[in-house]
This record gives sequence, structure tokens and C-alpha cells, in this order.
Amino acid sequence: MAPHRGAAGAGKRLPNESEKTMRRPILAANWKMNLGRPQEALEFVRRIRYALNEIDTVERVLCPPFTALTAVAEALTATSIGVGAQNMHFEEKGAHTGEISAEMLTGLCQFVILGHSERRAAGGALETEMAINRKVRAALAHDLTPIVCVGETLAQIEKGETQSVVSDQVGAALDGLTSEQAARCVIAYEPLWAIGTGKAATPADANRVIGLILRAAIAVRFGEGVAQAVRIQYGGSVTPANIASFMTMPEIDGALVGGASLKPDYVDLVRNAAEAAGRR
Ligand code: PEP
Repeated sequence: MAPHRGAAGAGKRLPNESEKTMRRPILAANWKMNLGRPQEALEFVRRIRYALNEIDTVERVLCPPFTALTAVAEALTATSIGVGAQNMHFEEKGAHTGEISAEMLTGLCQFVILGHSERRAAGGALETEMAINRKVRAALAHDLTPIVCVGETLAQIEKGETQSVVSDQVGAALDGLTSEQAARCVIAYEPLWAIGTGKAATPADANRVIGLILRAAIAVRFGEGVAQAVRIQYGGSVTPANIASFMTMPEIDGALVGGASLKPDYVDLVRNAAEAAGRR
């Protein structure tokens, strides 16, 4: 595991029990560019939906590709499982070939992943900090809950830049929001080296970045109440075997799950998450 050098968050402290608010954990499945044909998406959803629907102490969200959103949304209609998109444009409509707006997602899903590192890495004008902020605002304006991804590279960790990088990312993404809007956002802390590599961060490191850096950055802008209300997930090589170790951490409110969410035993991952969350 790569260390978080530079004593990130040094001098700050985690809140005590009485300062914490109840945050409902949220497990979001990022299917990425997989299961995009409606029929294959439906077959997978039918395999897991009954068991997943039962685990209602945590919020569960499936994020298929755009092409399968309608099919998945319909298959989940009578369940308590939410649906999310993996991206959207910040404009309402117009000459944006191949893009999808928040308005188009309305009625199809309740969540949208924004600023995922795989999109940030691809670069371009639609994944700058300003563009991500515009997407967050557009999503909220259409009653979609943004799942805003932040995270540092291995090189940035090694240079001791975790604190500045993730604080700046979360500050930019939430810039200009009201406190009420900021509190509605979900943040996913995903150190880049942990995504899709099979090497997860240690739960203690993830807990420290989330509690001491991200909540502090939110508190500076929106106050301690909002910082304690915002749900912040961990993401990066989460599996059924390691999820409990993250969920027992007091600052971690769930996970954004990539590869492991494509397997039928994703249900075990969510079940283990719910059981562990109940113990913390
Ligand atoms: C992700 O893509 O957000 C992710 C966390 O992927 P994985 O779980 O495969 O590391």
C-alpha cells in the first residue's frame, strides 16, 4: 500500500462521537463501459436485485452505461435500489454531439457520477475543475445527486501533496453551492493508484484523508454541520473480502465499486458492508 506521506491533516482532529451526525452509508456500483447492452444488463440485474433489495440499511445504487439506463431503471422500479449515470454534460441542450444533459437523465436516474479519474485522465474541456463544478450545479438543479470523485496520484502522494490536491478538488467541485446543496452531494475519495489495480488503500489511510482532509475542506467552506452531514465514500479495489474493514471506519460512508460490482457476488459485498456498518 502506498503511504500517505506529509502528515496529511496534521494538527487537526477527528470529531468525537457526540459531534457526529448519522450518515446513511451508500454503495454505488460503477459498471464503467460494461454490461451496456440492455439485455445483458437486465440479465445481471435480475440475478442480484432481489437480494440487493433486501439489504436496505445501506443505500444501493447501480450505475450502468447510458445505453442500459432505461432497462435498468425499469427493472428496479419496484425496488429500493437507486440508479445512477456515469457522467453528463453541464449544458441543458444544444450542439454537443454525443452528450447527455441532466434534463435528459431526469426520471431515469437519481444519481450521477461526476469527475471520475478515468474521465479526468482523458482530459479535455469537459473534465476541468470548472466543468466538473458546472456539472455538479446542473445535476443539483435537476434533483440529481452528484457522486463527485476526487483523488490523488501516486506521484502526488509521494510528494506529500494529498492534502492540497484533494482539498482543491473538493473545493472546486462544490464551489458556489449553498450549504443545503453541498450537504446533498456524495463525495467519493478514490486514490488513483488503487483504482482497478487490486491494491486497496488501507482503511486507516482512507479514513484519515476523508475525516481530516476532505471533511475539513468542506467545513472551511460550508461549516462543520455540512462537513459532518456529507457522505464520503472510499473507492479503489473494494471487494467482498475487504469492504468490512472500510465500513467499520467512522469517517467512511460507503464505497464506489468498479470491477467487483460486475460479479454476482456483489451482493455479498453489499451485505458485508451493511453488517459492518451496523457494528460501527
Ligand atoms: C472506480 O472505478 O471507481 C473503482 C473504484 O474501480 P475498482 O473498484 O475496480 O477499483
